[in-house]
Formats: sequence, structure tokens, C-alpha cells
Amino acid sequence: MVVAVSEKIHWADVFAAKVDPEISHRIATGITPSGPIHIGNMREVVTGDLVYKGMRDRGLDVELIYIADDFDPLRKVYPFLPQDYAQYIGRPLCDIPCPCGECENYAEHFLAPFLAALDVMDVHPHVIRASREYRGGSYTREISRVIEKREEIKEILERVSHRALPDTWSPFYPICEDCRRISNAEILAFDPEAHKVRYRCECGHIGEVNYAKGEGKLVWRVDWPMRWAHFGVTVEPFGKDHAAAGGSYDTGKEIAEAIFQYRAPFPVMYEWISLKGRGAMASSTGVAVTINAMLEIVPPDVLRYLIARTKPEKAIDFDPGMGLLSLIDEFDRVAQAGESREYEFSSITGIESVIPFRHMVTVVQIARDEKGVLEILERSGYAIRNREGVLAAAHRARIWIERYAPDFVKFEVQETLPSSALEPDANERYALGVLAARYMALDDWSAERLHNAVYEVGKETNVDPKQIFTAVYLSILGQKRGPRLGWFLEALGRDFVVGRLMEAVNAGTE
Ligand SMILES: [Zn+2]
Ligand SMILES: [Zn+2]
Repeated sequence: MVVAVSEKIHWADVFAAKVDPEISHRIATGITPSGPIHIGNMREVVTGDLVYKGMRDRGLDVELIYIADDFDPLRKVYPFLPQDYAQYIGRPLCDIPCPCGECENYAEHFLAPFLAALDVMDVHPHVIRASREYRGGSYTREISRVIEKREEIKEILERVSHRALPDTWSPFYPICEDCRRISNAEILAFDPEAHKVRYRCECGHIGEVNYAKGEGKLVWRVDWPMRWAHFGVTVEPFGKDHAAAGGSYDTGKEIAEAIFQYRAPFPVMYEWISLKGRGAMASSTGVAVTINAMLEIVPPDVLRYLIARTKPEKAIDFDPGMGLLSLIDEFDRVAQAGESREYEFSSITGIESVIPFRHMVTVVQIARDEKGVLEILERSGYAIRNREGVLAAAHRARIWIERYAPDFVKFEVQETLPSSALEPDANERYALGVLAARYMALDDWSAERLHNAVYEVGKETNVDPKQIFTAVYLSILGQKRGPRLGWFLEALGRDFVVGRLMEAVNAGTE
């Protein structure tokens, strides 16, 4: 890694420099796969990956893990679920049927596309499923300890989080044999030898579970420090909700030390990603853009860049409309500059986008088909080396226009002279005629020349260039504004542009 003296040190390198270089490290990330995993969730894992790469580049011994909390209960019927999912509330996600009927279970339905997206984004954690750990008996020793020490844990939780817990409070939730819910049950008896817990469920059922077989789980505030100790987690990114005073990191830290004699991981707190104008992203409220939806539009490098360019403690206001175009432009600039740490952290393919996305947005709206796209690009002076790559970029631009583009970006080249173009006054008509003649004579059909010609003609004819711009857009699009004129006319080609401008001039005189 080469860091110029004048260059600011990247935040991931700053974190990497703060951890103990003498020990082996494990960075843990985790998400509950209760719904479509959105780019707000992505921040958790990509933040972990950036710190991981920062540490790796310093020569540290480090591993990245991702724990899928597929043993968590379904909390409610989310907007994207059928109403009959009400019957599954409280059941572990891994025991609920998947909404599409094709996947192993509910959790896998949302995990599969997320894990595929991580792979595309060059994030390759060791994946752990909470359900398999619990049911495979990995946590048995820790659960015994937690139940033995439950009074001590209760005292820590009450003192650090300033909330009173009921006398019947238990750090362990059995899965009730009768209602099959992860139940806030009362523990009646505990047999650490046999790993059994006798409980009275909220539903009234009295029964016995074996926690060595995963017939129950620890409450979140205890589960978290337990897994730090179990997996030897030394660094962990987490959302700001856990970082609040008396929050689960604070209680987890004390529980880890007192119960497991383990030091809490180095914290990497991150802020939310919100959707511009709509608030914090959450799949439970439907305010979210999924990672997979974004990967249909931008290369994965750009999504990594979104996280890499912002310090974790700063909120990100994500705008999939014009904001996304600015993000892509910014990434292209960083890519062209090369060699920055931000670029190293974001770049996956190393392939620069040859054709600016903004330009592609214009091209696909002019072209009727793929052949047209390639013709226009060649006319605009792009040498098409990677035909497939260019057409994929064109496809992404089309999806963006359909789903996220504001109306002012959209246009349609009219096949015949639009009726709204038949209004120019005599001066404008004269200027349009001069412009058409100028265009016909140009030896260099380039965006810059085409654009500048409008100003030259404006000066010569004493017509405000703004009026000329408007008249050109009106005669081609039937609307007063359009894409940047030079590029636009260059893409349309000389025959079409000159022909149409002459039509507009003549139509006015008829
Ligand atoms: Zn499914
Ligand atoms: Zn029950």
C-alpha cells in the first residue's frame, strides 16, 4: 500500500492501526434475514470488509465472519408478507416456510440473494448460521454458564441499562413444544448435567427443553457477548442503536468480562443509511432499496465506494435518482485518478467505465435498439471494444430511467416535427436557419462544436442563445429542455439534425 504524505489516511486504515497487531483477529458482522436485505444492512458487512482489508494490508492475521441470525423469531407480519404469516409470529425464521415456496426456509429466502450480492461485491466472509450453531450444540457450555449466572447477568442489565427486569426474568428463551414460539417463558427448573430447562410458557404450557439440541436461544443482550467469547471476536461493526449509553454494547461488554472473562471487541459504530426524503431504511417499513436492485443499475464497485468514501459515524442520505448519477460520476473521477486508497477499497473489476453513465442515459433514450446504441456510440467517437460490456451498461441505464429517473431526465425523440415546435417567431426561425446551415457545413461533428455554434449564431443573429436552445429542443423533442445539447445532437447525427431544423424553419413560413 502506498500512501502519499499529503493524502488523508482512509478511515479503515485508521481503525486497522488501532487494534493490537500481536494477536489473531476476527471481525464479526451479523444481520437478521427477516426481510429483503437493503443497502442500509449492506453498510454493516461492507464496513466490516473495509476494516478487514485495512488490517490485512497491514499484515495482520485477520478473518471476517458473517453470522446470520436465522434463529431469531419473526416479529410481525411485514408489509411484504401475506397475512397468513400471522400464524408464524414468534417462530424461528429458519422454521418458517419461505414466501416463494422454492427455498429451504424463510431465512434462506432472504439470505440467498444477499450472499450472492456479497460475493459480487468482493466480500467473502466465513458464513455462520445461528440456527446451526444452536442446534448443533456449539453453545451448550456457554448456555449452561449463562443460566447458572442468571442473577449476576440480571444485575448487570438492570444497573447498566437502567431498567428493572421482572423477578421471573430469564436470559434463555425456550422454544415452546406446544405453541412452537421462542417464548418469554418462566424458568422453573434447570439441570446443567442434562442440559435441560423446565419452563412455563406464556401460552400456559409447562414443559422441558434440551438446550444442547437448540430447543431455545439466549436473549439478544446475552447472545451477543456469548458469541464474542465463543468465536473470539476482536472487532465488530454495529449500528448506532447498539452504541447508545446503556445499550447492548455497554451491557455486552460487562457481561463478556464478568461471565465469560472475555474482552469486548473493538467497536466500529456506524450510522444509518436513509433513503432521500423518506427516512432511515428498514425493510419492515418498506423504506428500502435492496442491494440486488442497486446491482441491476450500478457496478458493485460503486456500491462499495458509497460506503468507503464516508466515515462510518456519518449518516448517508442515499438518493437513487440524480444522486446516484453524481455518485457514479464521482467514482469515475476517482477511478481515473487511480491509486487512492478509496479507489483501492472500492475497485473490484479494475475496469473503468469507458462511457459515462449520464451519456448512456441519453444514448438509450435516442436509440431504438441495441444496434442503435452501438451506432450512436461509434458516431460519438467511442471505440467499442467490449460489446457485451457496453450493452450491459446500456441495459442498466434503461432500468435506472424506468425506476428512478426524475421526469426532467426523460425524453423521447419525436418521429416527426412536433406541433409544439411550430411557434418560433421570425427571429428565432431565422436563427434556426442559420444554425442549420452552420451545422451542414461543419467539418467537425463534435459535441463541443455543436454546442458552441449555438452561441456563435446567437451573437451573429442577435437572438438570445437560450431561445435557440429551446427552439432546437422543441423541434426535436416537443419539450423545452433536454439532455446536454452538444452530446445530444452529436448522437443524433447530422442528417437527422439538419433535416429536422430545416423542417422547423419551413413549417413556420407555411
Ligand atoms: Zn423462497
Ligand atoms: Zn407456548
